Amino acid sequence: MSKTVLVLGGDGFCGWPTSLHLSALGYEVVIVDNFVRRTIAKELDAPSLTPIASIDERLNTWKDVSGHDIDVVELDIAQDYPELRRLLASVRPDAIVHFAEQRAAPYSMRDAAHKAYTVDNNVNGTHNLLAAMAELGLDTHLVHLGTMGVYGYGGDGLEIPEGYLDVTIDGPDGARYPRKILYPTKPGSIYHLTKSMDQLMFQFYAGNDHLRITDLHQGIVWGTQTEETRLAPALINRFDYDGDFGTVLNRFLMQAAAGHALTVHGTGGQTRAFINIQDTVRCIALALANPPAAGEQVRIINQVAETRRVRDLAELVSELTGADIEYVDNPRGEAAENDLVVSNATLKNLGLEPILLRDALLTETVDIALRFIERANLNTIPATALWSGRAEREISQLD
Ligand code: NAD
Repeated sequence: MSKTVLVLGGDGFCGWPTSLHLSALGYEVVIVDNFVRRTIAKELDAPSLTPIASIDERLNTWKDVSGHDIDVVELDIAQDYPELRRLLASVRPDAIVHFAEQRAAPYSMRDAAHKAYTVDNNVNGTHNLLAAMAELGLDTHLVHLGTMGVYGYGGDGLEIPEGYLDVTIDGPDGARYPRKILYPTKPGSIYHLTKSMDQLMFQFYAGNDHLRITDLHQGIVWGTQTEETRLAPALINRFDYDGDFGTVLNRFLMQAAAGHALTVHGTGGQTRAFINIQDTVRCIALALANPPAAGEQVRIINQVAETRRVRDLAELVSELTGADIEYVDNPRGEAAENDLVVSNATLKNLGLEPILLRDALLTETVDIALRFIERANLNTIPATALWSGRAEREISQLD
């Protein structure tokens, strides 16, 4: 019998291609989403560059091309605990993949109202889910999308382990006691703060209620399409390039497509972790196939393919597109250069051979930027004057 998986946030950038991939693998998929991402795109007047079909059209198209049904439930997991509990009680899923959070650091830092919204949405949503799973005594495997960004970018070049740090504490008797603790977080935005708080909630519920939890600490996702979203135009994935939700690579690609120079802040020496969207969906399938046992500590996996400096990304896009690179002042008091070394041993051991930025898929992403350039809101591509006014937020969109 096929396994049932709830995909919370299954209409979003990572959730949609994951839903299709799991459906193609034979899972019974139920998408749960309140469609707030579509509402926020209107609030910011920043729709996806790629045209996003309605959820009904998306699902009907998937049925036509694959023969598989995906169900959808409109639900706000942060605000409607009773309905969430009812849904979990009736479906009793084998697994849940949790993407349903406000994920833009710049958006979370706009003002007090956006800070409060991000805390309310992310912390309540995650907690409601855990409380409902515990109350119902579900033996469901929860896979959550966390971020490498929780650790900050200290730049000391020491390898960030997968979740835990082995320490020894000096006892009063003079002996040294080994302990395993969560690797300390250093959140740089309210969004990252909520992701840090998620970790403590997972630790509590794994210990107290023996919930089985995998937390995937993901790098910045690049790319647009996956094997499944390529199958029909109505299945196309999001491409966000605005100052809040766009990530640095998409911004460079849009600047190139629009004939602008690629604007790099400072020396471009900031190093970040990256993963392609196709690998995101593969990693989630691998995590689902390898659940931790009940009573085990939270399994934390770094979902990262490679780390790159921002200027290397700019050079890569420049090589592909011929765009110029312009170095502009970095308005933030951050280190001009930082190193980032991340262990990704678990996913490699599970068999992932990651797609790297050098691979041909980057060309496809360039093609998408060019194909839909007429849909772009050119005002959101920073010219120099506009750039300096938005600079604070542009920098933090790196992660
Ligand atoms: P997204 O905004 O495109 O998707 C999130 C989805 O969740 C949206 O469809 C939204 O409508 C839904 N949602 C939000 N709050 C909800 C609620 N209260 N109830 C129901 N649905 C709700 O974001 P994404 O890029 O797909 O990111 C998904 C997850 O992956 C996030 O948790 C994010 O932190 C994590 N992540 C993303 C990246 C990245 O580069 N995109 C990197 C690291 C981690």
